[in-house]
Formats: sequence, C-alpha cells, structure tokens
Amino acid sequence: MTTETDDLMKKLVSLCKRRGFVFQSGEVYGGLQSAWDYGPLGVELKRNIETSWWNFMVSTRTDVVGMDSAIITHPDVWMASGHLKHFHDPLVDCLKCKGRFRQDQVEGNVCPDCGGELTEPRDFGLMFRTSMGALEGESATVYLRPETCQPIFVNFRNVVTATRQKLPFGIAQMGKAFRNEITARNFIFRSREFEQMEMEFFCTPEEADRWFEYWLEQRLEWYARLGITDGNLRTRRHEEGELAHYASGCVDIEYRFPFAPGGWGELEGIANRTDYDLKAHMEMSGQDLSFQDQVSNEKIIPFVIETSGGIGRTMLAVLLDAYREEIVEGRERVVLGLHRELAPIKVAVLPLSRKLDDPAEEVFRMVSPHLPSVFDVTGSIGKRYRRMDEAGTPFCVTFDFDSLEDSMVTVRERDSLGQIRTPIDTLVNTLNEIMAEGWPEG
Ligand code: ATP
Repeated sequence: MTTETDDLMKKLVSLCKRRGFVFQSGEVYGGLQSAWDYGPLGVELKRNIETSWWNFMVSTRTDVVGMDSAIITHPDVWMASGHLKHFHDPLVDCLKCKGRFRQDQVEGNVCPDCGGELTEPRDFGLMFRTSMGALEGESATVYLRPETCQPIFVNFRNVVTATRQKLPFGIAQMGKAFRNEITARNFIFRSREFEQMEMEFFCTPEEADRWFEYWLEQRLEWYARLGITDGNLRTRRHEEGELAHYASGCVDIEYRFPFAPGGWGELEGIANRTDYDLKAHMEMSGQDLSFQDQVSNEKIIPFVIETSGGIGRTMLAVLLDAYREEIVEGRERVVLGLHRELAPIKVAVLPLSRKLDDPAEEVFRMVSPHLPSVFDVTGSIGKRYRRMDEAGTPFCVTFDFDSLEDSMVTVRERDSLGQIRTPIDTLVNTLNEIMAEGWPEG
C-alpha cells in the first residue's frame, strides 16, 4: 500500500468510528481482531444496501423468491458440498516473527512483515466448528455456515413444492457467514464473521450460458445504481485453472480497492455452478432433488447460475467511493457523497438558534414519519452542517428567525451546497420529490 492509499484507509476508518458507522468489536477489552460492530449510522447504511439488493433481486421480480436459513448447519451439508474436503487455505508460518499468512497472498517465501523465512504451506480448514446440545462427541458436531448458498440447495425441493415455481427461477438469501480466515485484514473487506447476499438461479443446462451473461449484466447495473463510479468497477473472467471445483465459468466483479494487490479486489462472483450441488446433495441424502416439468413430465437436474456478493465489501466500496475532502469558502470539509437512497439519515432539521428549538422540533416531527431524520441542536450551524456532510446526509433543513414570520425553511443540498426556501406545510412533499428525482438543476 502506498502512503496515500494507506492514509485514505486510515481517514475512512477514523471517520467510521467518529461518526458511528463501524467500531472495532470488543474495543474496551483491546478489540477482537477482524470482528466489527456496526454503529447507529452503519446499521442504517448496511440495511439500506440490503433493502436495495432485496428489492432489486427479489421483490420486483416474479422469478426469484427469498429464504432465510439457520446459521448452524448439519455437518452432512458440508460433507456433500465438498467444504469439509476442499475448504482450506494454504497456511505458512514465519520462522522468525511467528506471523501467519495465506501462501497465495505473499510473494515468494519471505515474510511480508519481517523478511523472515516461511515454512512449507499446510492446509488450514476455514470452517468454524462447534458442538450442539448436551451431547459430547462427533454426533453433536455442527458448523457455522461458511456461505449462504448451500442451505438454498438443500431446500430446493421444499421451495419448489411450496411456491410451484417453474424453471427458470431463483432463490435468494442474505445473512451471516463465518470463515476462520488466516489473515483477516483491510477493515471490513475481509473479516471472520461477515454477511453475504447470494442468489441461485435454476435453469436448463442449455440456457445456462445465456442466464450467466444476463445476471452478470444485472449485477453490474445494481452496483451502478448504488452510485459507484463506473471507472472504479471492472469484471474479470476466471482462467480455466483458477475455477472452483464446482464451477464451469466464473466472472468476478471487482472494485478499485486502494489496498488490493494490483489495485482491484473482489466484490462479487457470478458463477455457473452446473448441476454440481444438487447432484451432490442427492447423492449424500438419497433424496430426489430433480425438477419435474409439469408439461412434459420430464425430470431434470437444473444447472445453477450463482450471484454471490458481500455486504461488508459493498459497504466499504460505497464508503470509499463517496469519501472526499474539499475546500469550501476557505475551509476544508470532509463529505460522504453517498447516494441519497443509501444515506443513513436523509434529512437533518437544524434550528439556527436555541431560541428556535420548539418550532424547529415541530418541523422534525412532521418530516420524521416520512423520511429518516435527525434533530440536531448542538454547536454552531456551520459545525452541524459539517457533521451532516461527514455522515453523508443529503439534505439539511434550517429553521431561522424569518421562519417564524413567513412559515418557510431553507433546504440545503450536501454536494452542490445549493439552497431553496420552501413553505413548511408542503415541505414533506418537496423533500419526497427531491428524494425521487434529485436536486433541481440550476
Ligand atoms: P476471497 O478470494 O476474497 O477470499 P472468495 O472468492 O473466497 O473471496 P466467495 O466464496 O466467492 O469469496 O464469497 C462470495 C463473496 O462473499 C465475496 O465476493 C465477498 O464479497 C464476500 N466474502 C467472502 N469472504 C469474505 C470475508 N472473509 N469477509 C468479508 N466478505 C467476504
């Protein structure tokens, strides 16, 4: 990492803590490495990303349904999926400083921290294992899911029976996943507990290539809708030798993460998983997971196109993309130029003076049932604007002494710093319009 990119990450991590986006987990006890807690603004931003994904992938479509499976899973799920056998990373130790690294993330066989010699690589299992119930021993061993997609495959027949979906159709799920990563680094980019958003699209083998290209396009469109700068996204097709054991084709959607080797890091993978998973679970469980066509009565094992992204990584990309420092009226300000749909707070209502707290609070009570809002009275108006700029709040509504006379308030927009004076009784409509259509030009 160069000093400049290192600085950017330091500044962003500091802003995330200062404004309540992300905290180090267990900080008062020295912190638990690679575990993160989402604060008041972080939980809202995360939820807005999740809602956007769910709306795009499930709610607005007729061919994708959702589910939410248990995190603690039956060991046979991971036996059948190949995780117990294959889900390892190559671990190397430094003989000098005792640091541990993933072999494929270090160059040569010299420690990246101290230059010491590294051991030969050995397999390190990435799944978190625990035991369930009062019983001791193997029979009670269970695993925290390392990905959200396997429970989708295991529930394939249940979902088909319950929803009567016909091919092609998808099942989507988002939620926690756990991996005991050897080196969990770079803030929320790689943690041991994280959240995924995955969708498995079941189709005939003949149509799999077409659906693969379709979903790749859809997923790129979703990232663009989050306001991520076009030039900061790219796609990368996997080479033959790089493909996972279950996949016949894979494209990563990558973001220009400042710390990533080569400048680009994975946000999401789109993969053709063929019929690998359904077949594996059929074999292990002895249950029939094929799909029976109602018209032809033909039974097929569908192919699967998967879209598999991370919520934390998306949030980090969105934050990095939105972060900027600029000079306004001779003073430096830090702004999170978040897309207004993602902004945790949409509107801040600010009385110009403490003497105006009561009527301004009435304005807050009008707006807050309609749009996520805050009422902020502490510090000078300039300080409050700066605080809201750092929180990514797109609109500030200022109640001043004239408001008492003319029943109007001033709406200030975060990026252009444009202002409009607008009547209080139609303020909610005005704000809703701006939320839907953007700030009026000129
Ligand atoms: P990487 O190569 O970076 O380890 P991966 O290829 O193993 O990632 P997948 O198994 O394809 O990742 O998981 C799908 C998505 O889940 C990733 O694109 C990423 O957004 C997210 N993800 C995976 N591992 C982590 C992690 N340890 N922390 C945060 N997000 C993760």
